[in-house]
Amino acid sequence: MIVVMYPNTTKEQIANVEKKLVELGFKTHPIYGEVKTVIGAVGDKRLLNTQAITSMPGVESLVPIMKPFKLASRELKDSPTIVEVGNYKIGEDAIAVIAGPCAIEDEESYISVAFKVKEAGARFLRGGAFKPRTSPYSFHGLEEDGLKILAAAREATGLKIVTEAVDPRDVELVSSHTDIIQIGARNMQNFKLLQEAGMTGKPILLKRGLAATIEEWLMAAEYILSEGNPNVILCERGIRTYETATRNTVDISAIPVVKELSHLPIIVDPSHAAGSWKYVPAISKGAIAAGADGLLIEVHPDPACALCDGNQSLKPSKFTKLMQELEPVARAVGRKLQP
Ligand code: PEP
Ligand code: MN
Repeated sequence: MIVVMYPNTTKEQIANVEKKLVELGFKTHPIYGEVKTVIGAVGDKRLLNTQAITSMPGVESLVPIMKPFKLASRELKDSPTIVEVGNYKIGEDAIAVIAGPCAIEDEESYISVAFKVKEAGARFLRGGAFKPRTSPYSFHGLEEDGLKILAAAREATGLKIVTEAVDPRDVELVSSHTDIIQIGARNMQNFKLLQEAGMTGKPILLKRGLAATIEEWLMAAEYILSEGNPNVILCERGIRTYETATRNTVDISAIPVVKELSHLPIIVDPSHAAGSWKYVPAISKGAIAAGADGLLIEVHPDPACALCDGNQSLKPSKFTKLMQELEPVARAVGRKLQP
């Protein structure tokens, strides 16, 4: 439900309405517009005596939100959400590129590849310290030691860090080292993990589940938003279809659909979508042309020897070339890469 306040309502009137809604068991999320303030109120509608709210000073009207996702919806907030990560923003005109190896393997090679992706123009560095693997016998990451390497790479390069949390019990630890917490595809509906991540207030990169509909994905975002954390970045990383030529099938149409349904920024991960480095450039260009706010690309100094996802990782030289090719595509749709 949206409580629409009259223009020029006082702060006190807004606070009183919020207080009343909280008393009635609702969580409130005020959105301060240039002219009007609206208050998103989520909770059990059956508890609501609408007159108790509509009769309050400053209240213009109550509008129901028809979509099952409330805080993520354009109905509540029409202006795009821009997630701020230090000096960088995701969701504005400049396209954000997150790059780096699938997993952190050792400090020396990690820091060296970090400098290479930075030189090529990436402003965010990825690397898994906790790896969700299909097989229990695969490499599962360096865990806390990996997080320390990540922090060292940030210190050395100034890049912002993105890394995954796979267990609600590790969220605090991961959060203390990273700038953005990634929730992986396999955990998109791990609701406890979403809530814990939401509670940190940190930007959350929420990957689409392997077989999730767009609505299910936005409902997962709703779990984070409803913890009072507005900093959600959606990431399309390919979904499972009958096609086997690629690891997953990238859903390019998800970009305009999400943009219509939600104010949240959406980026595309062509690496996990394709499963093969060869297709990464074409998918990256397609994603930007279709309106994505960023890309997440796996880059490894020696893909043949990578402990994880080598097949889909670009060598640094190929990544540099791709970044150069992306510039005119971004320009063609009125955007640019982050400077
Ligand atoms: C990853 O980013 O390394 C990863 C495991 O991605 P996904 O959750 O999309 O499979
Ligand atoms: Mn990977």
